[in-house]
Amino acid sequence: MQPPRLEISNIVKDFGGRRVVDDVDLTVMPGQVTCLLGPSGCGKSTTLRIIAGVESQDSGTINVDGKLVCNGAMSLPPEQRNIGLMFQDFALFPHLTVAQNVSFGLAGRKVTDRVHELLGKVGMASHIDDYPHQLSGGEQQRVALARALAPRPRIMLMDEPFSGLDDRLRDDIRDETLAVLKSEGTAVLLVTHEPGEAMRMADEIALMRDGKIVQRGAPYNIYNAPVDIQAAAFFSDIN
Ligand code: ADP
Ligand code: MG
Repeated sequence: MQPPRLEISNIVKDFGGRRVVDDVDLTVMPGQVTCLLGPSGCGKSTTLRIIAGVESQDSGTINVDGKLVCNGAMSLPPEQRNIGLMFQDFALFPHLTVAQNVSFGLAGRKVTDRVHELLGKVGMASHIDDYPHQLSGGEQQRVALARALAPRPRIMLMDEPFSGLDDRLRDDIRDETLAVLKSEGTAVLLVTHEPGEAMRMADEIALMRDGKIVQRGAPYNIYNAPVDIQAAAFFSDIN
């Protein structure tokens, strides 16, 4: 069997004496989308930043594709972790064209082919020479997805990537994004505070509260059998 694309164990992080990430375990299997779902301030972004390697943990272990990327004794820098990132504010480089944004940091003979392949997948092939300011928010988002996928990350970390989009666009972009990620075979850890988004996108949900994972399972199992009254109330907000 293939190893999990991402496996984190016993991650702990304190800020100023307060435990923000409290013994978190998470697994993302190949081809799957796991949603880290919970209210604002519960520690989702901190967990993602630790996995990405831009924040250090106090203890715990992270494996990407069966390879240790950090534990108490060692820590690979972000660029050696085979991880892709998409954040709400992860803007494109304004002075570079669409093609230059997508190929940024890539090297080799196949780069042009890869750029064309990805821009085709995200429906942006006709914008290859445009600059970001010539694109709508949804179009910029599509290019950002292509850029994040360009180096073929083993796992994509997404932190509320759709929250900057207007309501009319959001559902379409969510569906398109999922389709592109599935076609690339990229596993995903998606952070969101919206139960509706998790229900729409996740293969598995990990419900987080006050730094802890309080429940995990398939979306409809969690929705139909919330672990406690707080979880039930949280899911009643769904839209
Ligand atoms: P979420 O993404 O779920 O909204 P965060 O991980 O951003 O939550 O934050 C969890 C808690 O940790 C919050 O109370 C936040 O204020 C605190 N926090 C996050 N980053 C820092 C930091 N660099 N220094 C101190 N406190 C932080
Ligand atoms: Mg956050």
